[in-house]
Amino acid sequence: MCSEIHLLSARSAGSKRELTSLHFGLNQNRKKVYIQASLHADEIPGMLVSHYLRQRFIELEALGAIEGSIVLVPVANPIGLSQDVQGTAFGRFDLATGLNFNRGYQHLTPELIKRIGDELSLDPAFNQQLIRRTAAEILAALETHDETSELKKTLQSLAIDADIVLDLHCDNQAVMHLYTGAPLADRGLALAAFLQSHALLVSKLPGDDPFDDSCSRHWWELQDHFGESKSIPLACQSLTVELRGETDVNHEFAKQDADAIIAYLQHEGHISIGEGRKVVAPPAICVATPLEGVEPLVAVHAGIVVFIKELGSLVEAGEVVADLIDPITSQVTQIRASVSGVLFARVARRYVQAGARIAKVAGKLAYRTGNLLSA
Ligand SMILES: [Zn+2]
Repeated sequence: MCSEIHLLSARSAGSKRELTSLHFGLNQNRKKVYIQASLHADEIPGMLVSHYLRQRFIELEALGAIEGSIVLVPVANPIGLSQDVQGTAFGRFDLATGLNFNRGYQHLTPELIKRIGDELSLDPAFNQQLIRRTAAEILAALETHDETSELKKTLQSLAIDADIVLDLHCDNQAVMHLYTGAPLADRGLALAAFLQSHALLVSKLPGDDPFDDSCSRHWWELQDHFGESKSIPLACQSLTVELRGETDVNHEFAKQDADAIIAYLQHEGHISIGEGRKVVAPPAICVATPLEGVEPLVAVHAGIVVFIKELGSLVEAGEVVADLIDPITSQVTQIRASVSGVLFARVARRYVQAGARIAKVAGKLAYRTGNLLSA
């Protein structure tokens, strides 16, 4: 293992921060895996999974079992991690700008189209290298003027030439669920199976340029633009892994999740397990469903939330998921799902204001448009 320190420019005098990336493998071929934890810095399960992944990667490296290279960023957001406001972690948004740390990554497709059009060949391996090299050049030339933009540029640059990108997050209270690009759904199901994920939410355009999408979307967008006459592979399997809820931080879960990720990397050929042997994915407990089919259940007035349905349960359209109780009038409102699907996430707070999204149900039918991710 070797580590690299990426210095971020100081936002204020005397407060320089740095990002650390850990690099494993002898890099004997071009295969690459990129994993980062806690981009939303108050989402801690990924950091503990990284702790176990690091140990496993060191062992696997000593055995010569890592094909290519694996890059692990155990703390993807040192800026957000330092934002402790009077005892409360504030790691989702940049305090200085109000911007979400997982939005606003570079959409590379327009510039790639300009730069590579004449150079594409009929050889997918050549095109893959051309696109990766050009994407890296575009990011390298990007001017940044503050430490958060520099952090985002550094993270995207570290991941942009990877075959597999895993961005480890969690929700408030949740069962395991994953997000990925719709064209990557089939291959994403293997990771969903290893992690025993309750939902695999897919979209071709989630909106707001989250990290995972910005590592992978240009591959299918270039396919769509140049058509089948040019052989362009889907060269980046990028997924956001929601490691349950924010307090689901324990050794059992973290070891289990690290083992599942290792098994997935073996399955995908990034970690060797010996001549002739194969890792078989267990049966998945979910199917891919559209992000456009997720129903955010909304509090129609302020009140105390009492959940009726447990996380991971299947709800039918019309079923009550929670009661919302006005503490002054005692008015009780039943919050019902309008789609059938898996209740995969809900808020941790038990008093909410009017308009708050209190739970999410993964429906099978797409019905939403626009920006599909929460703030
Ligand atoms: Zn997150």
